[in-house]
Amino acid sequence: MTPKKLAASLTAGALVLTGLTAGGVPAQATAESHAPKPPAKNATAIGFGGAVASVDPEATNVGIGVLRRGGNAVDAAVATAAALGVTEPYSAGIGGGGYFVYYSAKNHKVYTIDGRETAPATMPGDAFVNKATGTPYPFAELVTSGVSVGVPGTLATWDSALKSWGSLSLKKAIKPAADLADRGFVVDQTFRNQTLDNKTRFAQVTPTAKLFLPGGDAPQVGTVFRNKELARTYELIGKQGPSAFYSGPLAAEMAAVVKTPPKAPGATLPMFPGYLTTADLAKYKVLKQDPTKVRYDGLEVYGMAPSSSGGTTVGEALNILAPKKLSKLSTPDALHNYLEASALSFADRGRYVGDPKFVDVPTEELLSKGFGAERSCQIDPDKAAAKPVPPGSPDGSYDACAPAVAKAEHPDTEGLSTTHLVASDRWGNVVSYTLTIEQTGGSGITVPGRGFLLNNELTDFSALPDPADPNRIEPNKRPRSSMSPTIVLKHGKPFLALGSPGGSTIITTVLQTLTNRLDRGMTLPEAVAAPRASQRNTATVTAEPDFITAYEDQLTPYGHKLVLAGDALTSAAEIGAVAALEFLPGGGYLAAAEPKRRGGGSAATVHQVWPR
Ligand code: GLU
Repeated sequence: MTPKKLAASLTAGALVLTGLTAGGVPAQATAESHAPKPPAKNATAIGFGGAVASVDPEATNVGIGVLRRGGNAVDAAVATAAALGVTEPYSAGIGGGGYFVYYSAKNHKVYTIDGRETAPATMPGDAFVNKATGTPYPFAELVTSGVSVGVPGTLATWDSALKSWGSLSLKKAIKPAADLADRGFVVDQTFRNQTLDNKTRFAQVTPTAKLFLPGGDAPQVGTVFRNKELARTYELIGKQGPSAFYSGPLAAEMAAVVKTPPKAPGATLPMFPGYLTTADLAKYKVLKQDPTKVRYDGLEVYGMAPSSSGGTTVGEALNILAPKKLSKLSTPDALHNYLEASALSFADRGRYVGDPKFVDVPTEELLSKGFGAERSCQIDPDKAAAKPVPPGSPDGSYDACAPAVAKAEHPDTEGLSTTHLVASDRWGNVVSYTLTIEQTGGSGITVPGRGFLLNNELTDFSALPDPADPNRIEPNKRPRSSMSPTIVLKHGKPFLALGSPGGSTIITTVLQTLTNRLDRGMTLPEAVAAPRASQRNTATVTAEPDFITAYEDQLTPYGHKLVLAGDALTSAAEIGAVAALEFLPGGGYLAAAEPKRRGGGSAATVHQVWPR
């Protein structure tokens, strides 16, 4: 199809594809009349030549700029991620880690990079336990501390992705983000809220208070927030390469600040010292590994293998749901099955998934059709099982309906932050990339003078040193993640790419969005916008207010108990923040970000057909 014909056909199909009615015009950013203006943003975009979706318009624009200048999807993804390090510093950045999933159009193959943080070499298994009481320190104390900081993997991920599949140097890929940090961005309500949510702890860490609480308060909406320190850090890395970070001056500074977190006068948090050393940084390596893969309704769904539990848990849940044929069920029956499949796969995640270098993870069996079918027939079509449900036996021998094995439950301590982006280019390459510093605001520790926060990823480990727990702390181990960057192929060609933040709700958000799109007759923007609920093998189902309003009456008869999402640390009762792409026949792209959650995300295409 010629670009002109494609444009015409995309324009004609735009309203159908987006599911938007005249009243559903995409949100435009607003600002005071004489205040600096943030870039306009659309939650949905249709066009061709490549596409990017992320939670932030500045970051999406950076990625689109890279594509327009001839860069590929990997260049754009790294540039977008670096820009998110500026505008979403509490969720992403070089102080954290993540998982990068890449489809190569040339090789017709999906590759992954595990850039997860690791535990320092000298971290003891009981690092989170108060020796006086034998119980874990309060979570709120562990979060804001050196002991929660893992060896960051994000910069090594960018470097590895660019070297393997990119066309730009690291220096060029992060230059637009350095410029953005220099000139600043307009503070929106989401940034202010996230800062306010963290104000009490940020105020206790000297360099963090200095950077993120100028004048003692969160930056006001509509003002420009500059991060010159981060601009200089990106420039230094551009000049010297990742070694500036992993073995140069930054390494020594990170180790020092983790060992002695810089407490502000009057700080009340204990801020336990951590174990990160320059030796840990010097030896950090990303891992390249095969993706997980399951077939669902004739599609191939690719995800992240352990150390993330994303690929195995989403994949197992899809295998559990496949025999149920959701598309033929009523909405309440489809939602009931979605919730039950989530609970079953979470039971298996808790029992079997950890860093495969340390525990024997039965990845293949967890993703086998036989195991999925065995688990599937444990779902009562009319009644929610009592939670927690016990894990199954992914042992290679499956009955039509085997009883589950004994109980093993470990509390879930993941935060609710992180960010996801998707990028594609004119050649048909695709990236689905989730990155994080764990909690919103990470460890709360900013590296002095360097403009970025360090992660608290190690709180993703279970706190108690239980030898039966695949996610117990061990030196040099990667904590189990829930990040689920996903790419779906149809007839061997890209069809969907998606992912989300949200701690362990990432898994259910990706699963729910997939089933919304694939089984429940929704367009991609509808699937993203639909209200969410998350069943992670607990007595209650966490749900957004709109989900409760719409479905509580329908789901109560099955025995599902819905409770409002959100925790003490976040101000919104939201679940996840999806960024997604759909590949349209003829070479077009439909990019979809959140219309409302986190203040709305930003989707754009290189040659935009809709909205213009
Ligand atoms: N640390 C979490 C994970 O790896 C992600 C945190 C979040 O999304 O808030 O699964």
